[in-house]
This record gives sequence, structure tokens and C-alpha cells, in this order.
Amino acid sequence: MSPVTTSYQPTRDGILDVDVPFYDRLAGDTDGRELVERFVIPIRSGRAWEVPAGHLCRVITPEGAQAGDFNVWNRHNPRERLWAARTRQLQGAHVTRHDRLWSTLPYLRPLLTITNDSLEWYGVDEDGARVHDLLGSRCDPYVNRILTGEDFDFHCHSNLTRAVLPYGLTEFDVHDVLNLFTVTGLDGDDRYYMKPSPARAGDFVEFFAEQDLLCALSTCPAGDLSVPFWGPDARDPVDVCRPLAVEVHRPAPELTEGWSTPHTAPYRGMHGMTPPSWSDRQASRDGEG
Ligand code: ZN
Repeated sequence: MSPVTTSYQPTRDGILDVDVPFYDRLAGDTDGRELVERFVIPIRSGRAWEVPAGHLCRVITPEGAQAGDFNVWNRHNPRERLWAARTRQLQGAHVTRHDRLWSTLPYLRPLLTITNDSLEWYGVDEDGARVHDLLGSRCDPYVNRILTGEDFDFHCHSNLTRAVLPYGLTEFDVHDVLNLFTVTGLDGDDRYYMKPSPARAGDFVEFFAEQDLLCALSTCPAGDLSVPFWGPDARDPVDVCRPLAVEVHRPAPELTEGWSTPHTAPYRGMHGMTPPSWSDRQASRDGEG
């Protein structure tokens, strides 16, 4: 048992309670669902796609271990997007089945709920590391330049940037990622580390879209993370890079009956401010006269 108490705990029932049977029924009904879209993302590239609310999406390692850097937005409002830090607090620094990805302020609601995770068996290893990481972020050409003095255009940040351009988004919309299939932790000095991905051919993570989503995924140029990209032992890990596949499924309609997109967080307090009022202004002028 942990000696400390989790901070972000609800004081009463509500949106943090996941309807486990609902999501388990969706995960279990693989025969009743309809495949809407399937594509493969080649090594060192990115792609964006839409997942309509109420649909399921599967991200797969079709040829074995590969890190996937994942971004997600409200399809109709790119200001509402994954908030990795709050998701770490509400769920955990790594996510798995029945965890949700939460959106930024002032929305703060689930973007998606994970329905299945074939790597759930990994749990926590002897170093305290876990899979599907929200601790780190995407690799990017700016930090690469700082660390190596060289330019490289196929880091996850760049792959995601190119992926979202057709949707009218830019580099400024790319945000801290969910690192799929990536095993990470913090060492005894509180420093971030990554370990080789345990994914095998056919492993997958599946989620249920709680709203209309725009998703983007990069096949990390570091591949399965078994070779250091930076540091004294670094070399180009292109030989451990593999593609990722994505499937979008429409579940059997009866499984989502009664379900609806979650509401945004109901706070309407204006941060303690009150808007100016014409009558108050007149009253104060009369007082001056
Ligand atoms: Zn990367």
C-alpha cells in the first residue's frame, strides 16, 4: 500500500466514475462492429484521422514493437485537446483499460475512454516502469538540435505537424502526447527514462470516442526505443522502426443506446469577476454629482 494519499479524489459520485460494464460490452463485441476505416502509418511519418463520437478506434503494432506518439482534439474546436498533466492527476502517469484522456480548460471532460489494451499484462516492472506513457512528450527537432547539433525533420513533433496541416492546424496545435506502447518511468534521481517497447505483432490499444475527435499519430523515429537516439551510445535506430496501423470501428448501435457526449465541466464562476453594469456606472456618476 502506498504511504501517501492520491490528491485528485472526488468527494462525491460523478464523471470520474467509469461505467465499466458499458465499456466492457463495447470491447467484447468484436463480431457486431463494422470496420469503417483502416490504414497503415509507415515508419518515421505521421497521419491524422477523424473518429466520430460513439465509434471505437484501435491503434495496432502490426509488425511488432514501435512507439506511437498520439495527439487528440475535439474535431470541431482544436482549443479543446488532450491535457496530459491533468490526465496524469485524474488517471495516472500511464494509462490502460478504463482510463480516460481529459481535455484542456475550460472544457475538462473526457475525450476518449480506453476500452482495451493488449499490453495490460505488463503492469509495473521491477524498475517501477509502466506502458503507455503520459510523463514524457514527443521528440522534436529543436531539442534534437540542442542535444546533437544536427537537424532532423522526422521527429514526432514534425511528423504530427505535417499530419495535421490538411485539417488547418499547425505546429502550435501539436501538444504533449500519449506515448503509446512506450515503457517509461522516473529513476531514483527523478529523471525520465524509456525502455524498449514490449509490443509484439498484433498488440493494440483501443478506445471509445466520447466526442467527435481528430486524432494524429507519429511513428517515432526512435522505433521500438531499444537503441538510444541521443547520448554517447547513440546511433540511427532506423532498423528498429516499424509501422503502426489504425482501425476505426462502428459498434453495434444497441451498445451505445442511451450514451451521450459528456458535458464540459460546469464551473461558470467567471474567476470571481463580475461584468460591468450600465446601471451601476450611472449610479456611481450620480453619486459623484
Ligand atoms: Zn518520437
